Amino acid sequence: MALHLTVDHFQAIRAYAEHTYPHECCGLLLGMKRQTIGDISHTVVELWPTHNAWTVEAAALTESPHTFTSTRRYWIDPKDMLAAQRYAQHHQFDIIGIYHSHPDHPAVPSECDRTLAWSGYSYVIVSVPQGSAQDLLSWSLDNDQQFQPEAVVLTDGD
Ligand SMILES: [Zn+2]
Repeated sequence: MALHLTVDHFQAIRAYAEHTYPHECCGLLLGMKRQTIGDISHTVVELWPTHNAWTVEAAALTESPHTFTSTRRYWIDPKDMLAAQRYAQHHQFDIIGIYHSHPDHPAVPSECDRTLAWSGYSYVIVSVPQGSAQDLLSWSLDNDQQFQPEAVVLTDGD
């Protein structure tokens, strides 16, 4: 899989991740899915930043309800998800993935990220060591529900 992202979107995600530091930012990637034989590529058309709705309630749904803070967890409100879905459908694109930040942690999915992930989505993670965005990596689940890195292709937009 590959994720096509404009330079503007790339910079916007990094800026948002720095803005919400030391908390995690999160949002949805809206765009198109192109499927060729044995491969899927995603093209981001628009970003849909969401409020990090991580709560004790959401924590109860996961394996490790020890950390109740938004510095290590993200949670997208189903209402935000629905609104984004309606908007995307109206514009004839889809929700193709989710982005979030890892303050002071590498841009690698956590076990919690894996538990909450859906197949067919791109998961963009930005590492933000000491408040300044560094790596931006994209991941997708393979058939064994394990995250594999996918190529991030930066474009100028058209
Ligand atoms: Zn994460």
